[in-house]
Amino acid sequence: DLGHANEDLKALIRTIPDFPKPGIEFRDITTLLLDAKGLATAIERMAAATHGPVDLVAGIEARGFLFAAALAVPLKAGVLLIRKDGKLPGATIAEDYTLEYGTDRIAIHADACAPGATILLVDDLIATGGTARAAIRLLRKAGATVTQAQFVVDLPDLGGADRLREDGIEVSALVS
Ligand code: AMP
Repeated sequence: DLGHANEDLKALIRTIPDFPKPGIEFRDITTLLLDAKGLATAIERMAAATHGPVDLVAGIEARGFLFAAALAVPLKAGVLLIRKDGKLPGATIAEDYTLEYGTDRIAIHADACAPGATILLVDDLIATGGTARAAIRLLRKAGATVTQAQFVVDLPDLGGADRLREDGIEVSALVS
């Protein structure tokens, strides 16, 4: 089953041109989420691509949360939320990252993971990798071990997955 190029899942992801601004082709996974069989298949394939036990699946706000939580159940792992700064109620640690214009900041609860916890990072999509790399810096700052990252969609022309691999992360995506 994994030998197929995941064309079945690709067909469930819709492209919306010029969102959120002109020139961006937005890869919309809400249509995959709406499809019961497609969603189950996506989670099964992400679980099959996971190597070794993981303590926590870390999801990036907001679409990453959905895949992280669903994947954590078969992996028998917990879920760690990586949120936009200012949303978490407890004491946090944060990390800044550069956007095309300006910077953004993500945060986790300071006590979210035990030092040495093994973490699988999950998001819906990797483009430049800026978000995922900031998430990895943040998790490592918290003492976690991050060796794998999984995405539903990779946009390979933007080079994010390759940058993560240069950082020593094993990267996989369902479709590119
Ligand atoms: P990046 O930090 O450049 O790798 O961007 C990844 C983050 O931005 C993810 O959280 C994605 O949800 C979102 N994103 C970036 N580009 C797109 C796109 N073309 N379609 C959908 N989401 C995107």
